[in-house]
Amino acid sequence: MDANRRDLLKSAAMAAAGSMVAGDAAFSLPVIQPDGDGLSWNKAPCRFCGTGCHVQVGVEDGRVVAIAGDKAADVNKGLLCVKGYHVGGILYGKDRLTQPLLRKDGQLTPISWDEAIETIAQRIFDAPDQFAFYGSGQWTIPEGYAAQKLMKGGLGNNHIDPNARLCMASAVTGFLATYGVDEPAGCYQDLDECDVLIMWGNNPAEMHPVLFSRVIDRRSRGEQVRIIDIGTRRTRTTDAANDYLEMQPHGDVAIALGIMHLLIENGTYDKDFVDTHCNFRGDEAEGATLFGEPITEEEFRERIAKYTPERVEELSGVPADKIRMLADLFGRRDIRITSLWCMGMNQHTMGTAINSLVHGVHLLSGHFGRPGDAPTSLTGQPSACGTVREVGTLAHALPGGRLVAKPEHRAQCEEMWNLREGSINGKPGYHTVKMFEQFTKPTAEGGDITTMFVQVTNPGQTLPNLNKLFNSKEGLEDKFLIVSDVYPTATTELADLILPAAMWVEKNGVYGNSERRTQQWFKMVDPPGEARDDTWMTIAIAHKLYEMGFAGMADRNGDFIFAVRDENGEEIPVWDFDRYYDTNVDKHLFEEYRQFTTMKHKNLAPYDEYVKARGLRWPVVEQADGSWRETRFRFSGFDDPFVAEGQEFDFYHSSSKDGRAQIWFHEYQPPPEMPDEEYPLWLCTGRVLEHWHTGTMTRRLGPLNRAMPTAYVEMHAEDAKAANIRQGETVLIESRRGVAELPVWIDGRGRPPRGTIFVPFFDETKLINNCTLEAHDPFSKQPDYKKCAVRVVKKSASNVAGSTS
Ligand code: SF4
Repeated sequence: MDANRRDLLKSAAMAAAGSMVAGDAAFSLPVIQPDGDGLSWNKAPCRFCGTGCHVQVGVEDGRVVAIAGDKAADVNKGLLCVKGYHVGGILYGKDRLTQPLLRKDGQLTPISWDEAIETIAQRIFDAPDQFAFYGSGQWTIPEGYAAQKLMKGGLGNNHIDPNARLCMASAVTGFLATYGVDEPAGCYQDLDECDVLIMWGNNPAEMHPVLFSRVIDRRSRGEQVRIIDIGTRRTRTTDAANDYLEMQPHGDVAIALGIMHLLIENGTYDKDFVDTHCNFRGDEAEGATLFGEPITEEEFRERIAKYTPERVEELSGVPADKIRMLADLFGRRDIRITSLWCMGMNQHTMGTAINSLVHGVHLLSGHFGRPGDAPTSLTGQPSACGTVREVGTLAHALPGGRLVAKPEHRAQCEEMWNLREGSINGKPGYHTVKMFEQFTKPTAEGGDITTMFVQVTNPGQTLPNLNKLFNSKEGLEDKFLIVSDVYPTATTELADLILPAAMWVEKNGVYGNSERRTQQWFKMVDPPGEARDDTWMTIAIAHKLYEMGFAGMADRNGDFIFAVRDENGEEIPVWDFDRYYDTNVDKHLFEEYRQFTTMKHKNLAPYDEYVKARGLRWPVVEQADGSWRETRFRFSGFDDPFVAEGQEFDFYHSSSKDGRAQIWFHEYQPPPEMPDEEYPLWLCTGRVLEHWHTGTMTRRLGPLNRAMPTAYVEMHAEDAKAANIRQGETVLIESRRGVAELPVWIDGRGRPPRGTIFVPFFDETKLINNCTLEAHDPFSKQPDYKKCAVRVVKKSASNVAGSTS
């Protein structure tokens, strides 16, 4: 990778941003019904968020021309949000990548697919241990599974990690620490049945609008649902809330501890539930681990005694009487309480701790396992659960909940993949932040990743502290960045080789949403130009290595590890793209992957069952009559097929091996960086309704881009006034790490309190991640994008907003 490439290309990116809106005439909102209109209609999950709404896709003359909400889908019952209604248009931005491009003498030059695949395979062949694969919660399940098998099975290299490390890794570690197994026990039905809905640093009105509308709809029908918003700024969710509890950053940890303190002190915890189904857990005194050590209930009481409402008020800024209000609600047996969270709790240097503590609040109070009583984390990406958490595309994981560090798990995978014993490396690979540090550090200084393949994600915009990684670097001439994507992005700017990818309904796919629902769709239209499937790219690279004699690409019988055979046992050359769709490669990979899913009771049904359904929630088990039954509520005897008959609950993957969940104590710790005289404001980053993540798709949609054309900085009016900053004025956001230039929005959609600003990260022309902090949770390795210290500087003067001087 050339030194200073980002600097050189920044101006080009700014120009490109203005020209990438889709041709509006090419795509229209549905004005037709999915019957009798002459179009060809088929189902697919929405391409965007982890809610997993289903859409009906209308195709005419080889183009997607209409989108309708799918009334048959349980998730959304025909409703979509503004992004979903426009999802078809993401295929038709004017600047789709349509041919492989290799950087030669600084210029991106078209090359053939053969040359691209050979180039990648040769680099891997020459230094297989120095290759890293960076993927995504937008990978389909077969894409992630293929990448996982290539790396961990074929190369014996665990340097594979997904962008979901940046958004939900702390949820994973929270579930593991509490239940011994990942992913929510409940489902979206909890939203239909709760009496109280608590948002922990979450803004579902914008980020998961269809889910939030389920609750608002209940209210409109006269049902009483109390909505409590705990956050660091007012949002559109706050507008609908009965109670808004404004907390200081990291205050959520203190609030959860305060609720548990009061449940114990008032004797309102659920003693029967705790005695029968829970243990207490705490960190080891030294060398804390994810699973901690057992503590007695007495020790738990002693440790939590200091988190009185008054102490919690000091730490969190939330008044003591509001902490009592929350504890009183959790102390009631006659109501059902659902907690929701997403990045607010996950992007947190105490991410594992706060996830575990919120589970603990629900377990201690017995608000668990009945419809409406649930601690539920949401995901931002459509298959963060399916592809990352279930397939296990994290640097430490193997498919179906297995771990690379466990010899028996490696042996199981080697057996199922028919690989030679010892093929899988037992050492976890680099997690995301470390992987990019190693890639952007000169090889001579220990940067031992020299080739990186990025699929379906945009780390050049989303990684924290981007300046440190990508700008003003010397000595990186031997580094080589490969990026597969559909549009030019902040990451393709940095790439040495760009591969044009097929997207969404241009290929077959399977996603797994936030409620354990696995969803399938078929290819409906062709991709433009020479764009191809990401799964095909992975198989083609693997086969080129096989041809070159790379031992790991052959199984024990000497067969190609991705061999796909027809009904007569003849191998289909799916590495040749002209033959790729001779069969359904997704189905072959899914059926292979499905064998891995039974160990952690994440059982999946055969592929064809998903063809018929609008998704099924795992575990899915076969019934006596041959039908397949999904599970809505895990660990609960009334619904979970793995709970023995007659048992009310069974945490069958308990880390204490006794069928019990763990109620954790974690000590409050301050944030990694706090405002001071020099940098007097908190910076929080996040998303907006109109744009999905880095905006690479939604900024190509005219209606959405016109509705939200630029990122901005939300400021409190008093902070702005004190610095003589006016509405709309462009300011500099400065941190110890970098600068971003943004227009000011006072009393905008979000309203931060004095001392806090908020900036969305969707805009590649205003990279707020130049300012953010790479500090991360010790267990999940997820960075904290929600709090760091900054100052706001007028471009024309020296006024610094929020300054006390
Ligand atoms: S809520 Fe999410 S999945 Fe549903 S339509 Fe909107 S973006 Fe798509």
